[in-house]
Amino acid sequence: MRCLTCKDERVIWTKDKRGNSTCYPCPKCNKNGQAVRKETHIIVREAEEGK
Ligand SMILES: [Zn+2]
Repeated sequence: MRCLTCKDERVIWTKDKRGNSTCYPCPKCNKNGQAVRKETHIIVREAEEGK
């Protein structure tokens, strides 16, 4: 199944005011945001370590 909102990443990537990539759980895939919150944390941490 292909989610058009998040392209199956289950998070929405956006940029904050500083231009840094940030993400939040896809509202369509995660109605409560619980399942992906941990994954999102890991993704963010990996992104920070990759700088
Ligand atoms: Zn989605």
